[in-house]
Amino acid sequence: MNLIALAVPFFLAALFLELAVDRFQQTGYYRSNDAINSLSAGILSESTGYFTKLVQYAIWGFVLGELALFEWQRSWFDASLQGVLLWVLAAVLWDFCYYWNHRLGHEISILWAAHAVHHQSEEYNLSTALRQTSSSFLFSWIFYVPLFLMGIPADVLITVAAANLIYQFWVHTRFVNRLGVLDRVFVTPSNHRVHHAQNERYIDKNYGGIFVLWDRMFGTFAEESDDEPVIFGVRKPLANWNPFWANFQVYNNLLFDAREARRWRDKIGVWFRRTGWRPADVEAAFPKDVVDLDKFQKYDPQLTATRRRYVMVQFFIVVATSLFIAEAFATRGTQFILVPCLLLWANLYTLGLLNEGRAYASRFELIRLLFIVPVGVYGLDATLIEKTPTVALIVATYILVSALWLRKS
Ligand SMILES: [Zn+2]
Ligand SMILES: [Zn+2]
Repeated sequence: MNLIALAVPFFLAALFLELAVDRFQQTGYYRSNDAINSLSAGILSESTGYFTKLVQYAIWGFVLGELALFEWQRSWFDASLQGVLLWVLAAVLWDFCYYWNHRLGHEISILWAAHAVHHQSEEYNLSTALRQTSSSFLFSWIFYVPLFLMGIPADVLITVAAANLIYQFWVHTRFVNRLGVLDRVFVTPSNHRVHHAQNERYIDKNYGGIFVLWDRMFGTFAEESDDEPVIFGVRKPLANWNPFWANFQVYNNLLFDAREARRWRDKIGVWFRRTGWRPADVEAAFPKDVVDLDKFQKYDPQLTATRRRYVMVQFFIVVATSLFIAEAFATRGTQFILVPCLLLWANLYTLGLLNEGRAYASRFELIRLLFIVPVGVYGLDATLIEKTPTVALIVATYILVSALWLRKS
């Protein structure tokens, strides 16, 4: 049972509800370009994950099958009191591993390169929750290996992992204020806002997934203060709406420092030392910009109203395509979804360009629209989408209407 797939309709409903409240109260917590970029990063993460996560599942499976130290019966995790306690134990242990995964994800440069994507939004709303990285498959899985080594059944661990992720959705809101004692036990909107801050006093705090108790235990807890409103985002702004670049930005900075460093020790240190550390020679030659949060301005290129509407409609096509791919992946398997994923990724890319207001965005978008024809005719498996005249007519209409609208916007 894929809990996350089941949760998607609730995620979308909650997101639209929050958006409606935002518009009604005119709080300005949502900007369409920012929300589209966050959701694009989420969709990219999910769609690349169909391919990349196979490796981590294979490794976890191997550890559980060949190296596990204890044997736990699946039947022990039933609805009895003992069974429920075991589920709770697995969930708490997962959260403990999540804390360290998340904490080192901030503290070690190469791990931050993957996790930074979740923090690039300069807004904070339910769309930020879905803003997920596409490269966590490289290292994140390592932090959970001890649980598989303990022999806890895989389906129990996968279920508590999904529950952990689903729990974290609701805390990404500015509409829930402080919750008293709950803010000191659980991860809540207030203490997770602190986690997304770039203010000096809040930085590198509140890493928990479900429990913030870990932060209080290991000295990384901070409370939200009325004296200092949170400024959301990262110190080196993304300043870009391309979800692919969002995933590559920090790796690129590290590559640059590693290339420019003279000593080999430093070339390696760039990746594995504390986030923000730079070799002295690189820092001297290419000093970092000084951050002055008093002058902080959000990245917000302006578009015409027609262009904004065009992007919004195309974004709904993206969402529909990603749901179609999720269904095809679940029922058909990985080999059937590569071509639809390529179409999806092209759409995500051009939406970024359009939102950035680039001069060449329309040309790239037109090329994308035209490429749907050969890809659809020769690339898509006929068993995935039946190539009937009706389907051809719908696709042709979509391309034509989009192209005409694009010219006018
Ligand atoms: Zn984080
Ligand atoms: Zn978050």
